[in-house]
Amino acid sequence: MFKGKKFLILGVANERSIAWGIAKALHDQGAELAFTFVNEAIEKRLRPLAEGINCSMVLPCDVQNDQQLDSLFTEIGERWGKIDGVVHSIAFADKADLDNRFSKTSREGFKLALDVSAYSLIAVAGRAEAIMNEGGSIITLTYLGSQRSVKNYNVMGVAKAALESSVRYLATDLGEKNIRVNAISAGPIKTLAASGIPGFRELLNKFAESSPLKRNTSVEDVAGAALFFLSPWSAGVTGEITYVDCGFSTVGIG
Ligand code: NAP
Repeated sequence: MFKGKKFLILGVANERSIAWGIAKALHDQGAELAFTFVNEAIEKRLRPLAEGINCSMVLPCDVQNDQQLDSLFTEIGERWGKIDGVVHSIAFADKADLDNRFSKTSREGFKLALDVSAYSLIAVAGRAEAIMNEGGSIITLTYLGSQRSVKNYNVMGVAKAALESSVRYLATDLGEKNIRVNAISAGPIKTLAASGIPGFRELLNKFAESSPLKRNTSVEDVAGAALFFLSPWSAGVTGEITYVDCGFSTVGIG
């Protein structure tokens, strides 16, 4: 299904990253991939992973930097001519804004979290459009903390609410070009980004106990849903926020 298809993956920090799980699944199905790194430390970890799946297209991109975003899409356009999909798997907030009370969120911390975690999807989709000449599929990763107040998720919950709203507006804006935009709302998974959230271990335990499937979400669960959204099997689906959290979000009180 993915033979000859080309995807850009943003957000692999290491082998535990959700983006890496999705990338491996795409590779296993025959897709060609390009990856981005935000800094040298990530580049050092990413290159061997990418080489392990015979991928040499590993390019710099800090999503806060418009020039880097422009260069990224120019280079991909020159090397590949077109892309079929993008995996946006990026989020960041200042640790102080996750540790402190929400009412103490700083203006700078708010801007940073919203810029990296929500605006970046708009910045990426707007540029991807130019090289998705046969239509395409863009997916992003979100979390239930956008809809409910989850302890310590704080400004990241607000950023995820903005991200989910952006998914709906981008789906509307890009739909005419047959570009679909969807989000996967994943249950908690132990990754680098997640370990920055105070009390994350408790959250994991709570999910496993309360979810209908009585277990935590795996990267493979998310990758399976990602393949669906990136494939023609979901050709009629856009603007959706889909929960891949072992059913946790469906459970009511009592
Ligand atoms: P991860 O492995 O730490 O991936 C997050 C990535 O975002 C890292 O590669 C990170 O780089 C990158 N990033 C941060 N700032 C950036 C910037 N300015 N430019 C480019 N990249 C930047 O964690 P993950 O859990 O897989 O997270 C991926 C996505 O899934 C995030 O949107 C997250 O909110 C979402 N999600 C995660 C969970 C979970 O429980 N893990 C649940 C639901 C949704 P640095 O390491 O250098 O910051």
